[in-house]
Order: sequence, then C-alpha cells, then structure tokens
Amino acid sequence: MKYHDITKDDMKNGDGLRVVLWLSGCEHGCPGCQNPVTWDPEDGLVFDEAAKRELFEILGKPYISGITLSGGDPLYPGNRGEVLRLLKEIRENFPEKNVWCYTGYTYEDIASLEHLEYIDVLVDGKYVEALKDNQYHWAGSTNQRIIDVKESRLCGSIVLH
Ligand code: SF4
Repeated sequence: MKYHDITKDDMKNGDGLRVVLWLSGCEHGCPGCQNPVTWDPEDGLVFDEAAKRELFEILGKPYISGITLSGGDPLYPGNRGEVLRLLKEIRENFPEKNVWCYTGYTYEDIASLEHLEYIDVLVDGKYVEALKDNQYHWAGSTNQRIIDVKESRLCGSIVLH
C-alpha cells in the first residue's frame, strides 16, 4: 500500500486536531477531483513500519482527537486488506481516539465491509462538481454524507454525525 502524505494538527478533515493519512489509489475518477495525483495506487511512498510509527507517534499525542484516512480512497480494493489491519491496530492501541474515513463509495456500497466496525465517522460518496459547496462542513459536495457509523449500524438506517 502506498501513501502520499501524513499531515498532523489537521483541522479540515474531521473534528478537533487530527492526524491524516493520505493513501494512494482511487478508481472513482470524479471530475473536478482536488487530488488526482493520488489516483494511481502505485504512486507515492510505501506505507511501511516507519510510516506507521510516525503516524502512531502523532496519534498518541494527548491533544490529537483521532485519525482520518483519506486519499485517494482508503477503501480502494487494493488498500482494503492493509487498511483493515491498520484499523484494528489503531483500535487496539488507541481506543480513546476516533477514526474518520473518506471514501468515494457510498455507505450502502460498503455496508458489509468489516472495516466499518472500526470507523466512527464515514464521509461517503463521489465528489460531484455540480453539488460543490464551500460552506458544507467536512466534504466537498453536498451529496457526500458525514455518517455516524456506529449509530447507523445500530439503527439499520443512516444517522448523520
Ligand atoms: S473519490 Fe475522492 S480522490 Fe477519488 S476521484 Fe473522487 S474526489 Fe478524487
């Protein structure tokens, strides 16, 4: 699995101050995408032990609320195995931190993935240029939903964050 960046003290991709992992690989091809450089799953840096250590070191800081997985698409099929292992490790080592994940798939598309057990908030759906709204919190276009995953799984219908 490849990644493009690890950003710390990020305030634009979820609640509070966060560490963000920008993964490579995306098959959605949304017109107007801000990050087409992340589409190629083979482009970027290898997400190795050193990268994970860097990520966890930042995540462990008391003022960091949690981690956001973005990209690219963290749930790009080629990323899913390694992302699932990473999510489990995060939950085990940092149970007090929350996990946000951005994906171009809809919640309904991926509802059966085990990954959702370890994700608190899912920002779902492709970016739709015609629905772009700079005032819309946490996402680029208003079709994208900021979903409380645990509540949605409990209720069996979408509950927004
Ligand atoms: S899902 Fe995100 S990264 Fe992928 S093409 Fe759409 S906007 Fe770009």
